[in-house]
Amino acid sequence: MNDALQYQKQIESQYEKLKKEAEAAGYRLNPDIEFTRELVDGLLTNEKRYGYWACPCRLADGVERNDRDIICPCDYRDADLTEHGACYCGLYVSQVVIHEKISAGSIPERRPPKEKRDKIGEKPATSLNSSLDYPV
Ligand code: SF4
Repeated sequence: MNDALQYQKQIESQYEKLKKEAEAAGYRLNPDIEFTRELVDGLLTNEKRYGYWACPCRLADGVERNDRDIICPCDYRDADLTEHGACYCGLYVSQVVIHEKISAGSIPERRPPKEKRDKIGEKPATSLNSSLDYPV
C-alpha cells in the first residue's frame, strides 16, 4: 500500500473513531463528510507537527502549554455550539443544525487575544463555560 493510500485510511479510521466518541458523549460531527475529513486531516497534520491536536482552523503557538485552550475539542466548543450551532471550525455541529439542515454560517473567534490569555495565565478557560448545557 502506498503512503497516500495509507494516510487516507488513517483519516477514515480517525474520522470513524471521532464520530463514535462524539456521539457517545452526546455531540455530533458535521454531516458534510468530505469537509469533516479535511478537518480530521488537519488535526492529524497538527499532531505530526506539534505532537497534539491543535485546532486546524487556528494558528497554533506550537508550545502545548500555550495552546491548551485550542487542543481539540477546544475550550470554546460548547459555547460556540450553544450560540452559533457549530464550533469555530465546523467540526462539531448542534442537533438543530443537523435536524433542520441549516448551515451554521461563520463563527466569530471566541478565543481571547494572546495578551488577554497571558493575563488569564494558568486559569483554565473551561471555567468560563461552566454553566453551559452541553452535551446536547
Ligand atoms: S473549533 Fe472545533 S475543530 Fe477547532 S479545536 Fe475547537 S472543537 Fe476542535
